[in-house]
Amino acid sequence: SQEVRLLNRPIGRPDSSTWEITESAIPPLGDGQVLIGVQHVSIDPAMRGWLNDVRSYVPPVQVGEVMRAQGVGTVLESRTDDLGVGESVTGMFGVTDLAVTDPSTVTRIDTSIADGPTWLGALGMPGMTAYFGLLDVGRLTPGDTVVVSAAAGAVGSMVGQIAKAHGARTIGIAGGPEKCAWLVDELGFDAAVDYKNERVLASLRKLAPEGVDIYFDNVGGETLDAALANLRRGARVVVCGAISTYNETSLPPGPSRYMSLLVFRASMTGFVVFDYEDRYDEAQRAIATWLEEGAVSARTHVAEGGVAGFPQALDMLFDGRNTGKLVLEIARR
Ligand code: NDP
Repeated sequence: SQEVRLLNRPIGRPDSSTWEITESAIPPLGDGQVLIGVQHVSIDPAMRGWLNDVRSYVPPVQVGEVMRAQGVGTVLESRTDDLGVGESVTGMFGVTDLAVTDPSTVTRIDTSIADGPTWLGALGMPGMTAYFGLLDVGRLTPGDTVVVSAAAGAVGSMVGQIAKAHGARTIGIAGGPEKCAWLVDELGFDAAVDYKNERVLASLRKLAPEGVDIYFDNVGGETLDAALANLRRGARVVVCGAISTYNETSLPPGPSRYMSLLVFRASMTGFVVFDYEDRYDEAQRAIATWLEEGAVSARTHVAEGGVAGFPQALDMLFDGRNTGKLVLEIARR
């Protein structure tokens, strides 16, 4: 197999010195094991966090280990009755083309509902994050005004569309006129703010003069502050991520407008999608129905280059070169 391993912990943005591409012999399958041929791996902002040697919701990737990644693929060989050759599955296979694993660590996917990349996006972790972050953590109510940042990304695009499907007014924040036009024209957002060319605080004030009920934060930093300045009474700020800070070498100044939480009797709550694992079925059923009805559309952005293309693919996230869910194509099988 070919795989990507962590060579050095990055300081700041990962670069070519962070990674090593290695070749390994596949061990013979033990009883009960399967060999997976990986087709796509998910490229996630969280990967940057897994490289830091700090206490978090999962242990860090160790130097020398295969980089952790969710993938989709097919069973190439099987020594168990639980999974047959040719079945489509998802699991934490890592950035590799071949993975020997135990069936208990993989989940079957139904590719008649959606293709593999969509099982890493709308029907995978980002879709689950949008669904539970908005409905459970954000306690969405019809008529709410919802603002979401990194709105043209995997999670953000789903947040806006799910909010819309529940009768909310949705405003997306994204980088550049093309992404903003896509949000409004294709995904049905009510408005979009181009944070690279507008003053977010002033634009939000204009678009939501009564204030914002839910701010779903994917980026942190100044954008979070601009949203805090525009809350409505009882607002919920959902802390999903803070990608603008992930490559910083020192901690950014705190949100200077946090006293808005007091003024507007608002709350700010962080969450980790894995805590909802026992309810993924519910979210997948709902999202699959919206996809089928056309209420939600799932866009995937497929980076090429196979296993060796991983470093460049990850880098794309940090200057917004993806629209929709970013996946890396490992192999066509
Ligand atoms: P995206 O598909 O949204 O990709 C990342 C996007 O972030 C880029 O396309 C870019 O869009 C934007 N971005 C990058 N750098 C900056 C910056 N400096 N300032 C503002 N925007 C920036 O990724 P995901 O949808 O997978 O993840 C979105 C967020 O959700 C991340 O913060 C991630 O960590 C978090 N997350 C949290 C989970 C949880 O359980 N809490 C689970 C899954 C994801 P643009 O062109 O608009 O700048």
